[in-house]
Amino acid sequence: MPKCIACGEDVTVYDMGATKKLINRGAEEYLCIPCLAKKFKVEESLIYQKIEEWREQGCMLFP
Ligand SMILES: [Zn+2]
Repeated sequence: MPKCIACGEDVTVYDMGATKKLINRGAEEYLCIPCLAKKFKVEESLIYQKIEEWREQGCMLFP
């Protein structure tokens, strides 16, 4: 698995999907959700909520 480029933690498929949605569809470097939350100055829970929405829309990035 790839690692978060900010903190070095392993990233999950959800972290990768969220990075692609929030930063760049073609991203090949990923941020974990806590680091994404910091970057965008939002609560982590907001990102998890967005992931749920994307999943419900049938987004292929979130199995
Ligand atoms: Zn991180």
